[in-house]
Amino acid sequence: MTKIRYFDNAATTKVKPEVLEAMLPYLKENYGNPSSLYSIGRNSKKAIEEARKKVANLINCNPNEIYFTAGGSESDNTAIKGIAYGNQKKGRHIITSKIEHPAVLHTCQTLERKGFQVTYLKVNSKGFIDLEELRNSIRNDTILITIMFANNEIGTIEPIEMISKIAKMYNIIFHTDSVQACGNVPIDVQKMGIDSLSLSGHKLYAPKGIGALYVKNGIKFEKFMDGGHQERDKRAGTENVAGIVALGKACELANNNLKEHITHLKELRDYYIKKIQEKIPNAILNGDIENRLPGNTNFSFPDVDGEELLFSLDAKGICASAGSACTSGSDKPSHVLSSIGLSNDLASKALRVTFGEDNTKEDVDYLVDSIYEIVEKSKK
Ligand SMILES: *Cc1c(COP(=O)(O)O)cnc(C)c1O
Repeated sequence: MTKIRYFDNAATTKVKPEVLEAMLPYLKENYGNPSSLYSIGRNSKKAIEEARKKVANLINCNPNEIYFTAGGSESDNTAIKGIAYGNQKKGRHIITSKIEHPAVLHTCQTLERKGFQVTYLKVNSKGFIDLEELRNSIRNDTILITIMFANNEIGTIEPIEMISKIAKMYNIIFHTDSVQACGNVPIDVQKMGIDSLSLSGHKLYAPKGIGALYVKNGIKFEKFMDGGHQERDKRAGTENVAGIVALGKACELANNNLKEHITHLKELRDYYIKKIQEKIPNAILNGDIENRLPGNTNFSFPDVDGEELLFSLDAKGICASAGSACTSGSDKPSHVLSSIGLSNDLASKALRVTFGEDNTKEDVDYLVDSIYEIVEKSKK
């Protein structure tokens, strides 16, 4: 069998061995319901609260501002719908951007059908929103600004502190989808003035199906799930104890190794970008070079169709992405690549390569050689 080389860490990451180790007891002997009063129930409850502290540590909030969810999508839905419904007496206008993840875009579209009004800010050729346009979009009835921390396709990191300052000035709640940024960029919700934030386990080396939502104390939001009183009555349902423990462990590891992790990813990213530009001079780098996720790259290769490139890479054991996993399967060009002004042709020729902690320079050499070979072949 061909060795698998994985370069799709923006789609999902491999569970770290330490994370798996930490969660196993809660799938085996420690299976008690955290709401139960006997020892194996109390142990579960205790493990959840320990994990809550670790998640809170990663973004510098109070543990009682963390709510566990089933992932990034649920966190975005809960935050945006919850804040919209909880504050609609003040107004029903929301501001977001055109390059959000579908978990935010489609949530906003649903709210539009329920009578809310949404402004979708455009972005420039590097993927940044325009702060002046943001200011000009604010109305008396604006209750929420939701702008992603970092984009999942092109890696652009938005000017989060500037956005939060503007939101504060007008007394508007600021939510950010930081699923791609958490564990890859330092985040301090207090220093950065973030009121609400989404993160997801499987993007930071924990399993799929577990996530967290931070909502600053004092901010009103309606719950998304009715039922029991779990998560301080904000998210009903027996807790995913093993998943929560795993997320806690992953956040702890991310926090302890953040600097080294970022250095490692940046090294691989910059090495890859340099080699591609040397060997394939007509490749076009999508997104910004400075304010970019440390592990993200996105190139359009004019000489080869994106899908063809992916299949040929797959035959060589290489996992990469054409745009985002969430939009693949549809033949429409990525809304992100269209929004930065890429033609349909170049958007269909984009290759997203996202590095993770297990990748090595030798992997990158193999990857670049493979891309080069495929591009040369398709030119003939
Ligand atoms: C992956 C992702 C999500 C969705 O998270 P899930 O845990 O898969 O539901 C939301 N936003 C961004 C930016 C993402 O990359």
